[in-house]
Amino acid sequence: VGDEDLDSTAATLPSVSKSNIECRWSDITSYAAKKVQSWFQHANGNWELGRIMSTSGTESVISLPDGKVLKVNSESLIPANPDILDGVDDLMQLSYLNEPSVLFNLQYRYNQDMIYTKAGPVLVAINPFKEVSLYGNDYVEAYKNKSIESPHVYAIADTAIREMIRDEVNQSIIISGESGAGKTETAKIAMQYLAALGGGSGIEYEILKTNPILEAFGNAKTLRNDNSSRFGKLIEIHFSETGKISGAKIQTFLVEKSRVVQCAEGERSYHIFYQLCAGAPRALREKLNLKDVDEYKYLKQSNCYSIAGVDDAEQFRIVKEALDVVHVSKEDQENVFAMLAAVLWLGNVSFNVIDNENHVEAVADESLINVAKLIGCDTSELNLALSTRKMRVGNDNIVQKLTLSQAIDTRDALAKSIYACLFEWLVEQINKSLAVGKRRTGRSISILDIYGFESFDRNSFEQFCINYANERLQQHFNRHLFKLEQEEYIQDGIDWAKVDFDDNQDCLNLFEKKPLGLLSLLDEESTFPNGSDFTFANKLKQHLNSNPCFRGEREKAFTVSHFAGEVTYDTTGFLEKNRDLLHLDSIQLLSSCSCHLPQTFASKMFNQSEKPVVGPLHKAGGADSQKLSVATKFKGQLFQLMQRLESTTPHFIRCIKPNNSQSPGSYEQGLVLQQLRCCGVLEVVRISRSGFPTRMSHQKFARRYGFLLLENVASQDPLSVSVAILHQFNILPEMYQVGYTKLFFRTGQIGVLEDTRNHT
Ligand code: ATP
Ligand code: MG
Repeated sequence: VGDEDLDSTAATLPSVSKSNIECRWSDITSYAAKKVQSWFQHANGNWELGRIMSTSGTESVISLPDGKVLKVNSESLIPANPDILDGVDDLMQLSYLNEPSVLFNLQYRYNQDMIYTKAGPVLVAINPFKEVSLYGNDYVEAYKNKSIESPHVYAIADTAIREMIRDEVNQSIIISGESGAGKTETAKIAMQYLAALGGGSGIEYEILKTNPILEAFGNAKTLRNDNSSRFGKLIEIHFSETGKISGAKIQTFLVEKSRVVQCAEGERSYHIFYQLCAGAPRALREKLNLKDVDEYKYLKQSNCYSIAGVDDAEQFRIVKEALDVVHVSKEDQENVFAMLAAVLWLGNVSFNVIDNENHVEAVADESLINVAKLIGCDTSELNLALSTRKMRVGNDNIVQKLTLSQAIDTRDALAKSIYACLFEWLVEQINKSLAVGKRRTGRSISILDIYGFESFDRNSFEQFCINYANERLQQHFNRHLFKLEQEEYIQDGIDWAKVDFDDNQDCLNLFEKKPLGLLSLLDEESTFPNGSDFTFANKLKQHLNSNPCFRGEREKAFTVSHFAGEVTYDTTGFLEKNRDLLHLDSIQLLSSCSCHLPQTFASKMFNQSEKPVVGPLHKAGGADSQKLSVATKFKGQLFQLMQRLESTTPHFIRCIKPNNSQSPGSYEQGLVLQQLRCCGVLEVVRISRSGFPTRMSHQKFARRYGFLLLENVASQDPLSVSVAILHQFNILPEMYQVGYTKLFFRTGQIGVLEDTRNHT
């Protein structure tokens, strides 16, 4: 155990299955090893380090740190690493790479504020939920000069820059993890390092200032994270030949627009709304007729207006300053604030029922007047757009009155669209400001901050898209790790075909296959006027039930076997969210507005409508905007993203949330373990073991086991001695490979030799 002569750490481990990387004492034949420490699992699932005092038959007696002595089933014990390996900075250095050992090692480091640990090629970052003194100029310098070697985001960013320059290949830093795990903070830390090393032109300052802007407009307080990003983001930072930053480009994915009109108790809408209400100077307040946050229904519904430790007014100042830096003119800034106010006022627009068929018209109060003024239209036009719908029946145009619930939906759809367009427009403005000059060298480092795998009690369309994206990213991750392994084998002349490798292609096929995949079926059902969540769910069951990654559930639900576990999706709202229609009347309203931004938004929506169609032809014939479905658009973005990532050298950072209360110092083993599984850290271990993870040079092998040979070998060269040993011990040919310089073994194979050696 932990013998320095062993080239690999997995020497005495038995083979490993996908779901279980554990190794139990009963699997270990060496008695000497059993005298050491062992993991004991308490009923609550937590692991504790115990010492085995004696073993007889299937029972062992162990003593725990608190002095308790327990009689336990030997089968349940899992070997622990020797103390000397406590807190190693790469998990691959552990002799026993089982789950409790990984958990303990991370915790050991975490308790000393060492929040970063490597897992082979992956950086694991555990959220400290407090300031840790690991950042700033001194650290940047230290990583730049390589005077510190401990794992760090800076080290990853440094490697990315160096490899970009050395290999002339674009790089990517792919950050994942669940909500609140620290992805966005990690991305900012990486950006800081790149800015410090590649700075000089001044553009790096602009790049850093995009963060407060995008966070104000795209982040919100949720129950999981006070500053939760409600969109995915890729920022591509471009460098000149001399390694200086020359510009950047931001791409965003799937911003959650439903939050604008609806959010859960205790959560907030987007930060910018509260910042505007709290921080707008008097003149602006008057111009936009701004009220306090609690006077807006959209903000009021969740009963949460502030975030502990955050001054929204101060944040507003910071955002305005940042907008200045990225060259959004004062005039445009005011237009942006007017749109935000319009959205807030829209939420206050109410309706009166005017006949006994529940038809409505908007109440002509302060809110309706304010919205009309802010977007630049007449109140009567606004009223019509919100309470009626124009339709073509045959050759005639008719006007249909809306019912209360239809009018509310129309109002909310307009608010959501304005916000989503505003967000997109802002990103465009930022991109203009950061644009790389004409003479671009094409060298770049991209940082991806994207939502991790999600599995809640209730999973909807959003989780469906997010998990699909994660499935793609996981494949990218696996393939990359696999490739690294492959390179090592090829270098040593190993027969690569003997390494099998488990892909998640089946699950991706379930999503992507045409015409009978989840996405195609969703789009198809979305085009049917009479399609409903119920018919959609039935269609899935009808066509996909034989797929091993799919299972139909009761009522409108279905389950997908993702790489990170099974998730059951409730199809309620799937079709509507996928269609995401804005009535033509609303688009026409925006295009007729005298203000500049609504017009811009409308023309964008019109442009979108020209593209291929998904969206129900309205009962009376196509009066709605026809456009790409949300899922199809997302899939397209994702393909583009993957293509871009494929051409880069990736660097992976996995962020882990140690507790659910956003508090420092607390490390919940079960929670961490589940994330290690989901984000593929344990997969790294598995992949490295699916091949020939134990490696030893011919010389070492011959030196270590040569004395066990019963017969003399004619030639004393290390390779001949090694081969003779392998034969003498009847190691099966499929269990090892002889490389140019090293011997490669399947997991567990060295065990027999070690045992014999220890008892000789
Ligand atoms: P989401 O998916 O919801 O956007 P996220 O993974 O982006 O979540 P962050 O917003 O980056 O999570 O982190 C949540 C909070 O955790 C931060 O607001 C910050 O308080 C804390 N945090 C994260 N990383 C660090 C760090 N390295 N040092 C100090 N605090 C951190
Ligand atoms: Mg985030």
